[in-house]
Amino acid sequence: MEGRGGFEDWPVRPRRVPAVVPYQGLTGALPSDRAHTSYRNRTLPDKRARIFHRGAWWNVAGGSSSPEPDAQTGTMPYTLVSFHAHPDDEALLTGGTLARAAAEGHRVVLVVATTGGAGSASREVLARGPLAHQRQAELERSAQLLGCARVVWLGYQDSGMPAAPSAAAPAAFAAADVGEAALRLAEILRVERADALTIYDPVGGYGHPDHVRVHQVGVRAARLAGTAVVLEATLDRGVLRRALRIVSRLPGVPAGFGPARAAGMYTPREALTHRVDVRRHARTKRAALAAHASQASVDAGSGLRLLTVLLRLPYPVFRWALGTEWYVEHGRAPGQPLLDDIFASLAR
Ligand SMILES: [Zn+2]
Repeated sequence: MEGRGGFEDWPVRPRRVPAVVPYQGLTGALPSDRAHTSYRNRTLPDKRARIFHRGAWWNVAGGSSSPEPDAQTGTMPYTLVSFHAHPDDEALLTGGTLARAAAEGHRVVLVVATTGGAGSASREVLARGPLAHQRQAELERSAQLLGCARVVWLGYQDSGMPAAPSAAAPAAFAAADVGEAALRLAEILRVERADALTIYDPVGGYGHPDHVRVHQVGVRAARLAGTAVVLEATLDRGVLRRALRIVSRLPGVPAGFGPARAAGMYTPREALTHRVDVRRHARTKRAALAAHASQASVDAGSGLRLLTVLLRLPYPVFRWALGTEWYVEHGRAPGQPLLDDIFASLAR
């Protein structure tokens, strides 16, 4: 039950909820701006003829009477909002899906809860200035590569892992009021008339408190905004277990990287609804990951980092290993065959 802060309260917003911060990097990316009344030379559907921006409702010129299928692909243009905890999560978990959706003519909006200031980086990178600023710029580049139309920062602090001092900060996303954060995300979903939202699984994949919060906030925001399709971006636990078995046999890999590490992480195969083939967009996904250079930086002797390892893979191996992305769609019974189309439930 939602109780206070639920759907019945909409559109009355508590005054203390701060305004959604439009991302300044991709200027003109808000749907009210003239440059975005058309998207990839396609007139925006009527559903975006009226949008809420800068505290008021605006009529957007140029809306057609109804959405029209893409002339080449025959598919309907949808709006996908992808909600993430930190810069680089969008590329790692959903990069192929976002690139594919954008390439197929859909509007892709990225919402990022934190600027990733608690991430680790080499001393050289840290000496260049605040890590959060660098990571924002990296995400801007990644979003452009993936074809995102808009990026919105919610402005929370990166909580870091539970033992980190940052986890106790009052502005940490993990400490955020779920209802308040959900109202902010719901506002974006309503402005965008989002058809689909990606969040994370209930355990936040590997348990990062910010990732758990993304699930909680995303579920509630979708309910507030009435978003039709909610997809948990996750991994197939069985595939992860097999990958860890291979990795654990490689020389130099620390103990504890065996398949047992996957226990309780991400999602068991039988609970999945989607296995999305993104191999055609693997180069874009790799470029988006490479944009997060600070997260691939390491000091000598301080061990391997995931992004470093992934970016060093020969391309055919990268394409094989990261050419699939997995989801659990809320309200859809899991089973075989797994779906390839994240918009399948919207198709008429
Ligand atoms: Zn993250």
